Amino acid sequence: MRALKMKMIVFLMVVTITTMSFGQEIALPNVKILATGGTIAGSASSATSGSYSAAQIGIQTMINAVPGIKEIADVSGEQISNVGSQDMSIEIWLKLANRINELLASDEVDGIVITHGTDTLEETAYFLSLVIKSDKPVVTTGSMRSSTSISAEGPLNLYNAVAIAANPESNGKGVMVSLNDQIHTARDVSKMNTTNVNSFQSPIKGMLGGVFYGRLGFFREPNTKFGNTSEFSITGVKELPRVDIIYAYADMSPDLINMHVKAGAKGIVIAGVGNGNMTDAILRAAKSAYENHGVFVVRSTRAATGWVLRDNEFKDDDYHTIASGDLNPAKARILLMLALSKGEKLSNMQTLFDTY
Ligand code: GLU
Repeated sequence: MRALKMKMIVFLMVVTITTMSFGQEIALPNVKILATGGTIAGSASSATSGSYSAAQIGIQTMINAVPGIKEIADVSGEQISNVGSQDMSIEIWLKLANRINELLASDEVDGIVITHGTDTLEETAYFLSLVIKSDKPVVTTGSMRSSTSISAEGPLNLYNAVAIAANPESNGKGVMVSLNDQIHTARDVSKMNTTNVNSFQSPIKGMLGGVFYGRLGFFREPNTKFGNTSEFSITGVKELPRVDIIYAYADMSPDLINMHVKAGAKGIVIAGVGNGNMTDAILRAAKSAYENHGVFVVRSTRAATGWVLRDNEFKDDDYHTIASGDLNPAKARILLMLALSKGEKLSNMQTLFDTY
């Protein structure tokens, strides 16, 4: 009797497992693609011309151009904007970030892909990494060649980005940037070349991972704060304080600082020479900008890569300046805008730059 009972239990278990495997379709992860424009959506009259117009085709046409994409995820698209990324704006960033936070709060969405022009892709990605409140993957991608170009790489980049966003291993990695079979953190990546498909690199810390026709692996963990642990939030934020960037050069005049202060800048990032250096006159103008107008000045660098260290050739405290570490000028501007927007004091600014 007991043996019969056991047999019945085993039989029922087998029936249940078989029904689960064959009776139901295994659901694909839900990935939402948010399109913003860029070369990946660009087109030209000739496949062999480098000239084209960015942001010409819509999200559905882009999805349709990627063979096999519907086999790796349940994808749907949404057009957030359709601009060349030189026209990316704080307004679009806020719209995009709010929409992502809304989508990722839902159980219906497992990951997000953003298509974007490559010119300011690293800025959008870094901004999002600081204000998206979710551990689910957000992957930004683009292309260096337009959709009508010979050897257009956009469809494979989009396929890979969807595969990354659909993979549970990508959870908790923050906002990523993926082009040319590589995965980078939003914080560490820069566009290093104006035209080459291998333009995106993380020159100091290296790639986060790699992706090959949808198969992926991660090589390291991001080591700065982002996402759920970030103290920045855009809830209720309609605009950000004005922060300008000034490019330093030999014999630079202090007038530049004064002009930006007069124009209403609340913060200035100096793309300094070398280790965040600038003429003595600019340094004195920076000191006076803070003392007389409360304008914060961050020292970054015009060099393509490297750290800007605090107290290197002078004491930062003497001039009220903040060292950007390895944040390039465009990203230092974003961090300063967010910090100013939450009313951060100068005494805590360097800690923020060392943390994010
Ligand atoms: N200027 C365009 C943009 O950023 C072209 C760069 C690109 O997408 O590759 O949208």
